[in-house]
Amino acid sequence: MSEQRDEGYDEWIEAIERGEGYALECANGHGSLPPRRLCPECGDSELEKQPLPDSGTLDTFSTIHVATPAFTEDAPYVVAIADFGLLRLTGQLRGVEEPEVGMRVGVGIEGRKTTEEPLLVFRPA
Ligand SMILES: [Zn+2]
Repeated sequence: MSEQRDEGYDEWIEAIERGEGYALECANGHGSLPPRRLCPECGDSELEKQPLPDSGTLDTFSTIHVATPAFTEDAPYVVAIADFGLLRLTGQLRGVEEPEVGMRVGVGIEGRKTTEEPLLVFRPA
């Protein structure tokens, strides 16, 4: 990964942390995550920042009991995909005992237990 790619993604993580998350939208309405210069679906180079909605819909989730090394101390945890309109985001789901597909979730940044890396976390909205 080049430094430029990291920069764009870090900036996006910081925006999510401030509650100012956004997606990049091309002229054809495709959403993508930074860092991007071209739409991954149609190659359009006119990408505009669009604010993410405050909450998204839980699409799918799965409980991880045996984690990869970066997450050993976090296990068990729930990995989920949530639909935020332009974007489908993958993160950990926290703060809910029995997740249900279709529930509303908000997105934020929280620490992992295993490392200090920032982590995308969904919580019930
Ligand atoms: Zn596009």
